[in-house]
Order: sequence, then structure tokens, then C-alpha cells
Amino acid sequence: MSRFLSREALLAWLDGLREGGAVVMAPTLVEGVSLYRQVPSAGEINLDALVTVTSPKECLFPTSRTVFIVERKDGKVDLRVNTFDGQAVLFGLHPCDALGVHLMDVPFLAEPADGGYRERRERTALVGLSCIRCRPECFCTSVSTSPNDPTHLDVMLTPVEGGYVVAAASDKGEALLASAKPEERVLPLPEPPELEKLPTEDLPRLFRALYDDGYWGRLADRCIHCNVCSYVCPTCYCFDMRDYSKGNSVERVQSWESCQAAGFTRLAGGHDTRGSKAAKMRQRFAHKFLYFPEAFDGPLSCSGCGRCVRACPVNIDIREIITDLKKIGVSSVGSGEK
Ligand code: SF4
Ligand code: SF4
Repeated sequence: MSRFLSREALLAWLDGLREGGAVVMAPTLVEGVSLYRQVPSAGEINLDALVTVTSPKECLFPTSRTVFIVERKDGKVDLRVNTFDGQAVLFGLHPCDALGVHLMDVPFLAEPADGGYRERRERTALVGLSCIRCRPECFCTSVSTSPNDPTHLDVMLTPVEGGYVVAAASDKGEALLASAKPEERVLPLPEPPELEKLPTEDLPRLFRALYDDGYWGRLADRCIHCNVCSYVCPTCYCFDMRDYSKGNSVERVQSWESCQAAGFTRLAGGHDTRGSKAAKMRQRFAHKFLYFPEAFDGPLSCSGCGRCVRACPVNIDIREIITDLKKIGVSSVGSGEK
């Protein structure tokens, strides 16, 4: 037996959660572009959205956020920390984006945790949608997930004729479903789509061996440092902190940054520790395929969502890079060539 929610029952459940005080964030069309936004009504949700243009990371790690404001007043110093006190539901995450959230949890929740991220994350339930269609650039089965994988989610929905099969994937999800009133039905689940398989096994070791290869310079020549790849990516989490003074107060703001940006590693005095295009380009992929798995003794820091492939204006394609590393590795690492 499966638990089934019709499309109407699903929207009524989400509206009930919203009316109960939860912020519901979901894919919605903004001037024709599919983006994650807080929705004023469940009817605004684009239920048929494939992977969105930008990722849902901005719901947990906003593009720009006040961390605190310090104010000097009447001889005293007042510190006001910006907190998130509500409850939120992040709806419609495909398994790649659930993996993306997990890959942000790893650094942000490691002690000492990022307080702002932890607060939002603990107060947010993740409701996923398994994929029955994929985009041509998707490659999630080459990393650590698949189109119907409920790992890292609280609730998983699978589209079937007339509605969704719904399953709790955590205690938080079971509690969230208490108000959903699903029907019991015998329903076959659709077969997940088949995806291209890339040679990702052994990537950290291959990367280390090809660290100084001329490949990075050749690839970097065409990068225009627009930063789009980092901004659309669910697993890129570089940020900058700036203090803005106004009168007697100072506001500290955390904002997204990109390792591809000019000046990202420029020091006082002007020296840039990663000044060449090759070093910048290598950094983005080294973070995903070498430093992250080494630092956290775990997975590659890529969810296989394909967003950077679609967004890059000069067609730098992470799938080609994975394949190239394998090819160059096989032809040169063994012989010690560079
Ligand atoms: S590197 Fe590209 S494919 Fe991988 S998670 Fe980021 S945007 Fe998606
Ligand atoms: S999207 Fe492409 S051109 Fe822009 S910074 Fe990334 S790799 Fe370079």
C-alpha cells in the first residue's frame, strides 16, 4: 500500500502549513524563469518544474544577509543579532538539490557551525519530488544520488497519474505529514529516467596527480570570470563579510562570493595568491573533486544538477572536465608525464 495525495490535496496541505505560520518556498515562475521563492499561495507553485535556473541554496544561505548590527547609544554598546524565528518548508527539491543541501550542511554545520545557517536549516523541512523527466545536462547518478533517492529529505513525493505517492523520509517528515490526510492505494511507481554515467570514481586521486597539468591553463583561457557557475551552483558556498558604518552603528553583512572573481584572493598590498586564470579555474574544480572529499572524508562536492553547464556563457562543461581528467590521467599519470 502507498499513501496517495491528489494534486488538489497536495496544494491544500501546503496551504494549511502556510496558514499555520510556515514559510513555504518552492519553484515558481518569475517573469517566465523557474526560481525558488516564498509563495503567497500553493497555487503559485510550478509543480512540473525541472531543475530550476538557480538552486534552492538561497533559501538557507541568502545571497546577502545582515548578520548583526552594533550600535553605540547613550554610552552603551547594543548588539542586535539577526535571527530567523519561524518555521519553513522547502518544497519541490529534486534529489540532486537535496544532496546539494547536504553538501552545504557538511561545512556549515561542522563545529564551529555557522549560526545563521544552522538556525534556518533546523527550522526548515525538506519536501522532495522524484524526477520522472530530467534535463539533458543532468548526471546525478555519477555522484552520490539518483532521480528517486529520498536520502537527505524529510518527505518524498513521486508523481503518478492524478497526484503523488507520498512517503516520510524522517521523523520530521512524518510529523509534517500529520495534516496531509493521504489515501491508501496500491500504486506502481514509475521507472526513474536513465542518465549518462561519468567516470567519477577515483577522481580525487586523479586530480591530485594532474594538479600541475597544463590542462587548467588551456581550459581557463576562455573563462570570462562572470561567476555565474558559482552563483547557480547548489554546492558553492564561498562568501564575503563586510561591515557598513552609518552614524553610530555598524552593520555586518554576509554575501555570496565566487572563487572565479577577480580579486577574490587579492591581499592587502595588491599581491594575488591565485592570480593566474589557470589557478582560478583549477580552484573551482579542485574544491569539488579534491579538497572537499579530502577535508570532510566524504563525497565529491557536486550534485550532478548540470546548472553550471547550462549557465556558462563560454560552454565550460564540468562533465567534459571529468571525462578529460580520466583520459589525461590514463594517458599520462602512469608514465609520469605532465
Ligand atoms: S558544479 Fe555544476 S553540476 Fe555540480 S552541483 Fe554545481 S552547478 Fe551542479
Ligand atoms: S560561468 Fe563559465 S565563464 Fe563564467 S566564471 Fe564560470 S567558468 Fe568562467
